Amino acid sequence: MAAAAEAQRVTRSTCPYCGVGCGVLIASQGNRITGVQGDPDHPANRGRLCSKGSTLAHTAEATLAQHTRLLQPLHRPQRGAPTQPLGWNAALDLAAQRLADTVNRHGADAVGVYVSGQLLTEDYYVFNKLVKGLLGTNHIDTNSRLCMSSAVAGYKATLGADAPPACYDDVAHAHTLFIAGSNTAWAHPVLFRRVEDARAARPDLKLIVVDPRRTDTAAQADLHLALQPGTDVALFHGLLHILLWEGWVDHAYIAAHTTGFDALKALVRDFTPDHVASTCGLNKSDLFTAARWFAGVDGGTTRWPTLSLYCQGLNQSTSGTDKNTALINLHLATGQIGRPGAGPFSLTGQPNAMGGREVGGLANLLSAHRDLSNPTHRAEVEALWGLDRVGRQVPHQPGRTAVDLFQAAADGEVKALWIACTNPAQSLPDQNTVRRALERAEFVVVQEAFATTATTAYADLLLPATTWGEKDGTVTNSERCISRVRPAVQPPSVSPSATTTAAPTADPDTAPRHDWLIATQVAQRLQALLRPHEPNLFPYDTPESVWNEHRESTRGRDLDITGLSYDLLERSGPQQWPLPEGQAPGWSGQARLYADGRFPTPDGKARFTAPAYRPVAEPRVARYPFALTTGRLRDQWHGMSRTGTIGRLFGHVPEPVLNMHPQDLSRRGLTEGQLVRVSSVRGGVVVPVQSSDQVGLGQLFMAMHWGSEVLGGQDAEGRPLNGVNALTTPATCPTSRQPEFKHAAVRIDKVDLPWTLVAMAWLPPEQAHTARRQLAERLHHHGYAVCVPFGREHTGVLFRTASAQPATAEELQWLENLLGLQAPDTLRYRDARNGQHRAVRFFPPNASGPSPEAAAERPLAAVLLAGDTRSAAWIQPLLQQRQPAGTLGRALLQATATSPTPSATAGRSAQVCACLNVSQDAITQRLATCTGDDGQRLQQLQAALACGTQCGSCVPTLKTLIRQTPIPPTPTGAPLAI
Ligand code: SF4
Repeated sequence: MAAAAEAQRVTRSTCPYCGVGCGVLIASQGNRITGVQGDPDHPANRGRLCSKGSTLAHTAEATLAQHTRLLQPLHRPQRGAPTQPLGWNAALDLAAQRLADTVNRHGADAVGVYVSGQLLTEDYYVFNKLVKGLLGTNHIDTNSRLCMSSAVAGYKATLGADAPPACYDDVAHAHTLFIAGSNTAWAHPVLFRRVEDARAARPDLKLIVVDPRRTDTAAQADLHLALQPGTDVALFHGLLHILLWEGWVDHAYIAAHTTGFDALKALVRDFTPDHVASTCGLNKSDLFTAARWFAGVDGGTTRWPTLSLYCQGLNQSTSGTDKNTALINLHLATGQIGRPGAGPFSLTGQPNAMGGREVGGLANLLSAHRDLSNPTHRAEVEALWGLDRVGRQVPHQPGRTAVDLFQAAADGEVKALWIACTNPAQSLPDQNTVRRALERAEFVVVQEAFATTATTAYADLLLPATTWGEKDGTVTNSERCISRVRPAVQPPSVSPSATTTAAPTADPDTAPRHDWLIATQVAQRLQALLRPHEPNLFPYDTPESVWNEHRESTRGRDLDITGLSYDLLERSGPQQWPLPEGQAPGWSGQARLYADGRFPTPDGKARFTAPAYRPVAEPRVARYPFALTTGRLRDQWHGMSRTGTIGRLFGHVPEPVLNMHPQDLSRRGLTEGQLVRVSSVRGGVVVPVQSSDQVGLGQLFMAMHWGSEVLGGQDAEGRPLNGVNALTTPATCPTSRQPEFKHAAVRIDKVDLPWTLVAMAWLPPEQAHTARRQLAERLHHHGYAVCVPFGREHTGVLFRTASAQPATAEELQWLENLLGLQAPDTLRYRDARNGQHRAVRFFPPNASGPSPEAAAERPLAAVLLAGDTRSAAWIQPLLQQRQPAGTLGRALLQATATSPTPSATAGRSAQVCACLNVSQDAITQRLATCTGDDGQRLQQLQAALACGTQCGSCVPTLKTLIRQTPIPPTPTGAPLAI
C-alpha cells in the first residue's frame, strides 16, 4: 500500500530524555513517525514539551536511521577489524557461549554488566535477574550511578526509603523554591515551566538558587547563592546553624518524628555565618535571608511551605550523599515535608532512573528497594525467583559500581563486559582508564540502538536494540509516576541502498529487538549452558509478563504497586506509586509521602545525619589552578547519540567551547575563540575558549555532551583525545559511589596549531549523513577537530580542524569530493607553497532560469577554507543562513576577516529560540524598543518575534536578556515610567 493511502495513527508514549517524564503523542503513518506533540492528558507535562522533546520526530527519520542506527547483529572477528553481519540466533548463541565460557574459566565475578537509566523497567528487571539470579554475581551497575545514586543513598539514610516524597504539583503550592545544584531551566525545562507559572500566579513566591554558575535558572532567582564548588554541605550546615540561632526550627516536629538531632546540633555549632560565608564565598546577609525564606517563618503562625529541587550539583560529588542528607536535614528540622508545597525533591536526570532503582538494578540493590546487605531481603528475592527451590542464593557481596567495574576491567579482573543502552566511552569519567578497560576485556557485547557511539568501536558483538517510538513497557519519572511506553512503529531494517557493511537484507531475523527480549533470549541460552537442570527462570513472552513479576516483588514494600496493572494504565493513564492492591488510583498516600509523619524506618522516625564537611577530592593547586565543572546544554542529551543527529539542536550551542570568566581570559592573554589545551592529571582536550560571566573567577564550564564522536584532536604525543570526560575524575562518594563530575582541577595552555581548516556544505540528507560519518572517522587526524551538523529544514555538515602542518593536497581533494566542491562551477584559489586553499560553490540557478538576478541571489552550497581561515567569520553565516551571495563572486576567496561588501552578514549571534530560530541579536535589537515592566517587555517581544511561544525552553534566557537590555529612554532621556 502506498504511504499516502496508509492511515494516520496516534500513539501515546513518553519522551525518552529527562526524568520529567513528559507524555507524548506520536503521529505515524505506515512505519514512519511523522510528528510528535505533548500529551495533554499526561500529568507530568499537560501537553508541553521542551526543545528536545518537540524535535523527537526529526530524530526518527528513515534516512537518518540508515546512517545512525544499529540495524542488525554484527560480529567483529578481531579487534580493529570490520564487523560482519550475523543472524539473531548466531548472535545470541555467541553471546551466551562467550559469557558462559568466562564464568566457567574465571568465575561469575569475571562478568560485568553495565546498563542504563534509559532502559525500560521491564528491560532492567530481566538484566538484574539474569546477573544476580542466574550468573550469580552482583556485578551489574547502571549509568544511573553517575546520576542518582547519591539521591538514593541520601533518602535511605534519612527518610528510610528511596522514595522522593514530593510531586510536581507541589511547585504550585510552595512559598519558597530552593533549587540546589540544578540548572532546571535547561535540564528539566517542562518542570521549569511550572516554576514560571507558580511565580506568575504568586509573585511573592521566593526562588533561591544554589549554584556556583549563574545559569539561566540562577538568573531568575530572587536570591542566587553562588557558592564555591563543592561547599554545599558547609552551606546547609550553616543554614541550620542560623535556623537554630534564630529559633526557626520546628522543635515539635523534631521531637515527634525524628531521631539524631542532638548530634547534628552539636556539629553545626561550628558552622557560624562568618565561617560559612568565608568557606562558601557568600555574603552573610544572604545566608540569613536564605534561612528565613527556607524556614517559611514569614507566614506568621502558619509556616509557609518550602520545596527543594536538586540534581547533579549535589549528586555528582565525592560528598554526594552528605550533600543530600544535609539538605534533607533542613527539611526535617523545619518540618518542611509531607504537606503540600514542602519537601526534598530530587530530580532524576534520566527518563527511567527511578524504574531501575525500583527493580534494584544497581550493584548494591535488590528488587523493590531491597538491600543486598540484608539477609531477609535476599531470602525474599531468592523465594520470588525460585532460587531457594534449587538450593541457590543471591550472592551477598555488593557488586562493582560503574567506575569500579571499568577499573576492574582495566586491571584484568573483569574479563567480559555486556553494555546495554549506554555509552561508557563517552560518559564515564577518566576516559583513558575506561578505554583501557574496553580494550583489555576479552569479550565486549554492546547492545545498542545507535551504531555511532564511541563504545561500539570496542565491541566484539553488537546487538541491535529498539529505541524511542519502537519500545514497549513502562517508565517511572521523578515524581514516582509510572507511564506506559508504547510502540508507534516497528524497528527499521537495513535498506539495500544504504549499507556498505552488509549484504542487503530485510530478514526479520536481523532487525533490532527489544532490550528485555534480547536479555531474555541470552538468559535462556545461558541457563541451558550453566544451569540446565533448573526450572526456566525467564519464562517471559511479553513485557507485561515481566512487569507482572516485578509488580509482585513490590508487595508490602514502600513502593507497593500490586494494585497497578497494564490494564489500569491503559484505562486510567499514568499512576504514581505506591498503589497497593485494594487502593484506588489517587488515594491519599500517593501524591506526597509522609504526611502522617511516619517514615519507613524501624522506629517510624526520620533520621538526622551529621556529616562532616569535606572539600572536593581534587583541590585546585598551582599546577592545576582552575575548577572545571561539567553539565548539560539546553538542547542536547547525554552523549548526543540521538539529539546529535539533527542540525536544529545545534542552533543554540553549535560547537564545543570552554566557558571562562572574562577576567581570567584577559589575565591569561587569551582571546574569544582561541584554542586552548585543557588538562587534568588524567588527560586533556583541545577546545576554543568562550568568555562567559556565568562562571566565576577561577572556574570553567564545559558541556558534558562533547565526546570523541564530535570533538577530536591529539595530545602532544599524537594520541587521540577522548572528549570532555578525559578530564573528569573517577573519585567517588564513599557511600553512593557516584563520581565527582562537578569538579576537576585543570590547567589551561595555549596551543600552537597554526594551520586551520573550515569546511561546510549543504548536502542532500543521504549525502550529508555519509559525509558526517566519514568526517567523524578523521577527527583524530588533527591537533583539534570538530564535526557537527547544522540546519533546520536542510541538512548541513561542518568540519573544523587546526593542525601543526598544512592539509595535504590529498586531504583537500578528498574533502572537496565529499562536499560537492568538485563541480565545474566551483570557484577556487590555491597557493600550495603557502598552504592556502579556498573553494566555494553556489547552489545552481533555480528553475526560473540563469538570469543575472537569479545568479546574484544564489546562496552558497559549500565552502572549503584552508590555511588562512579568517574569512570563515563572515562566510559561515552567509552559508548557514542561505543568504544571497552570488554577487560576491571571487571576493569569497579573499582571506579577510571582514566581508568585502556591507551586505554580507558580519556573523550571527547565538540562537535563543530553537523552535522559531530567533537569534540573540534579533531579540536584543527588538528589546531596545520594548517598554514597561519585565512582563510587558516580554509580551511585546513575543508579539513581535514569537520567540518562546512554542516549547518555552528559551523563556528563562529571554527574561535574562530583558534584564540586561536597558529600557529605551524617553525623548527627555529618562527611562519610561513603569
Ligand atoms: Fe522530554 Fe523535555 Fe519533557 Fe524532559 S522536559 S521529558 S526532555 S520533553
